[in-house]
Formats: sequence, structure tokens, C-alpha cells
Amino acid sequence: MNSQVLSLLNGQLAAWETARNNYHALADVQTRELSVNGLLYRMQYNPARIVSSGAKVDRASIARRPCFLCASHRPAEQMGLSLLEDYELLVNPYPIFPQHFTIVEKEHVPQRIAPRFADMLELAHRLSDYTLFYNGPCCGASAPDHAHFQAGTRGFLPIESTWRQCIGKEMARTAGATLYSLNDAPRTTFVIEATQADSACRIFRAVYEALPLPVGEEEPRMNILALYKESRWEIFIFPRAKHRPTCYDAKGANCLLSSPASVDLGGVFILPREEDFRKISANDVTQILSEVCLPLTALKQNNP
Ligand SMILES: [Zn+2]
Repeated sequence: MNSQVLSLLNGQLAAWETARNNYHALADVQTRELSVNGLLYRMQYNPARIVSSGAKVDRASIARRPCFLCASHRPAEQMGLSLLEDYELLVNPYPIFPQHFTIVEKEHVPQRIAPRFADMLELAHRLSDYTLFYNGPCCGASAPDHAHFQAGTRGFLPIESTWRQCIGKEMARTAGATLYSLNDAPRTTFVIEATQADSACRIFRAVYEALPLPVGEEEPRMNILALYKESRWEIFIFPRAKHRPTCYDAKGANCLLSSPASVDLGGVFILPREEDFRKISANDVTQILSEVCLPLTALKQNNP
């Protein structure tokens, strides 16, 4: 499967000018590193991502626009690869990763994780050169009305190599899976390490049920990363308090256009504006994370 995915990407880069230009620009992308409480975060200046960071995701705006993940509204050049019957893998034309894909449900159905978590594990298993990610409908998904995952080059996100240094508490253990919380404040992270998918699903369900459900929303707010290596899954769950930090809407010099989603929580902050890329400090990252991450104290009493 990994080789089919790579040949789709190469074919699309040859035939699709928008994708080719954006991948070409990514090769020269500027980055800076910041240490936040001893953990590495990388800042990426990526102007093409304004499509996502600047996206209006309120219900009225979403209802008005044609859905860009539906086959009937996609760019004519965009080709797909069928996966697990219900999904199609597409090249993401606005990349963050050297290889970046969107994996969309074939039907136009809302973004929900509960019925698809097992699919996410299966996709991570089949696409083992990549890290899968899920952005909840109020946590960075720019198409909250059309179910989708994304996949990016594995090993790109700092958390993949740093999480073991910050294992906090072992919160649950079964024959096929273990749940940890990480000591990585101001981020809040749960990790499921699993050799069996059904055990991982049961532990995920317990975490899901321990998270608060905001009024008027359909699922607890979260971002998720999942990857498969050495015969086991590593799954990172970031419970969220809110979508965008205060600085996103601040006026003038106080504005910092950061719209955090899975990739940012995994340690790569995407900044579509050059002035933000230049000025952002470790203190800013701390402030943003402390606003958008759900503190552990907000979990319901039946901790996972
Ligand atoms: Zn759609």
C-alpha cells in the first residue's frame, strides 16, 4: 500500500500544477525551533496553509460553501486511491509534511471519531510509512461536515521521538494495550500503546467517555495521531478546551494567527504569516497550549 500511495503522489506532482507548486515551495520552507518546558517544538512558516488556518468553520459558512472533499467539487486534476472500501486517499495540495494526504469518506457524512476509530487504526497499519491524524469538528478540521483523516510522513512530528521521555502515569493496562498520561504541560496528552486493535479501541472508548461533551456539540473535543511500527500502534490523544487561542482574534501587533490542530500539538506549529513566524516565542507557545488544551482536572470523575 505504501508504494501505491507514493506513486499516486508522484503522478499528481507531474500532472497537477497547484500541488506541484506547493510541494516545491515546501522544500524551502523556513523553520525555527523553540524549547517549551524542555520539549522541542518546531515553528513552520507555511503561507499556503492560510486556507486552513484562516478558514471559517462556523455552521453558516460551512453550509454555504461547496464541500471540497466531495468528489463532485474536487479539482479536476485530483485523483484518488480507494482504501478500506469506504475511504479514498487524496494528495493534500497544501502540504505540511514532505508527503501529505487526506483520507476522505466516500460519502458526505459528518466528522466523527467514535464510529471510525477502528478504521483509523487499520489505516495506520496499512500506511505504516505515515502518521495518521484526526482533527475533531471543533478542533481544526476545515471540513467538519465531511469525515476525513490525514496522513503525513512518519517521524516528522517531534512527539513521535520525545513522548517516552515524559511518560507520567500508567492509567490503564490490558493484555493488548496500555494507556499513559504524559508530563508535558501545558499540553495534555494521553498515549495508547497497543499490540491489539480491539484492546486499543476499548481503552479509547474509556478516554472518550471521560472527556466532557460541550453543549450543542456531538463529540468531546480532541485531536488524535496514530502510527504503526514494530508490530504496535502508538496513539496520541490531545483533549481540547477550545479551537483557537485568544491571540488568533487579537487586533494589531497582538494578533498571532495560530489555529492549532493535530500537527501543532504533535510539535510542529504552522504559521501562515511571516510576522508571526518571526515573533512567536516559547512563552507564546505556552500560552496558546494552555488555552487550547483541556486540563486533566476537567476530566469527569470516571478517569480512564
Ligand atoms: Zn463533502
